[in-house]
Amino acid sequence: QARSVINFSAGPAKLPEPVMRHAQREMLNHEGTGLSVMELSHRSAEFSKIISTTEKDLRDLLDIPDNYKVLFLQGGGSGQFSAVPLNLMRLKPDHTADYLVTGTWSAKAAQEAKKYGKVNLVLPPTKKYTSIPDKSTWDLNPEASYVYYCANETIHGVEFQYIPETNGVPLVCDMSSNFLSRPFDVSKFGLVFAAAQKNIGCAGVTVVIIREDLLGYAMDICPVIFDYKSQAGHNSLYNTPPTYSVYMMGLVFDWVKEQGGVAKMEANAKIKSSTIYNLMQESKGFYWCPLDPGNRSRMNVPVRIGSPEGHEDLEKKFLEEAAKAGFLQLKGHRSVGGIRASLYNAVTVDETDQLAAFMRNFMEANR
Ligand code: PMP
Repeated sequence: QARSVINFSAGPAKLPEPVMRHAQREMLNHEGTGLSVMELSHRSAEFSKIISTTEKDLRDLLDIPDNYKVLFLQGGGSGQFSAVPLNLMRLKPDHTADYLVTGTWSAKAAQEAKKYGKVNLVLPPTKKYTSIPDKSTWDLNPEASYVYYCANETIHGVEFQYIPETNGVPLVCDMSSNFLSRPFDVSKFGLVFAAAQKNIGCAGVTVVIIREDLLGYAMDICPVIFDYKSQAGHNSLYNTPPTYSVYMMGLVFDWVKEQGGVAKMEANAKIKSSTIYNLMQESKGFYWCPLDPGNRSRMNVPVRIGSPEGHEDLEKKFLEEAAKAGFLQLKGHRSVGGIRASLYNAVTVDETDQLAAFMRNFMEANR
């Protein structure tokens, strides 16, 4: 039967219903094997087919050039905060990396990188994270081993609408919360990573796309499972990969293809996010968006109620009534409070319209 709730979680997040049904149908018997995917050896022919098809589908979806490796790793987004400096800090003799800090996740990545080299903060310091400072204020170091940024800050809702220019320094990007929500030119990057549990599957697997010439620079202390060269040499099968999470991700890639690809995801993301941003704009001071225009996330839309800082009682009431009406997991991250509507690929335009209608009714009843 159809589900009666809509999940607006920031992650682990909603999965497309057809994907869940597919997994359910073959839970106990994957393609006539009599086994669940969870029970298959990672060296079996069946699992080899799953992982290679998953990689091929991702290559098709993003048009990934041949000189890039695709890895499926464990350790989540946070694992990559360590793996990136462990593998790339030594690309240049200075062992210095440039970090663009635009929110909590890039701040954490920069903090972790300090264990393995020098970190240069490119942007002027801020605690607010409501916009991306103008490029004229950036302090990029031409001798940096790499430049790191987070394409979409899941907590604050700051999203880059462009790819930063680094003048030849390898660009590293955390796309965990907007991966496959818009097409991008892979060749502009040295490395892109994305934890699966937002837009592309369930927790447990992290996709890493890395340009081949960046392999082989890992520090001696780099754990072997985080060494990109070793993982690339073993097609991500150095040790047991998160097999079921890889399978689920493969089903999500199939679904994205069926829907019309990444361009279709982007078209939907524009429609969905504009619905909520426009509603805030037209609410005449009832709903407030903490973000400056220009860097507003299409994936994670932060909303305050009653005032720019948020009226605590009204926000609490909103969340209670929303949950009763079946609109789930709309609470903002505990570090910032307020409301956050995460509109990942699996959330439909119609579901977003239903949320907007709820928000309008709440406004009429409470202004
Ligand atoms: N980067 C971003 C943009 C995130 O949103 C998150 C998690 N919410 C992480 C990294 C950390 O991912 P994980 O929890 O898988 O370590």
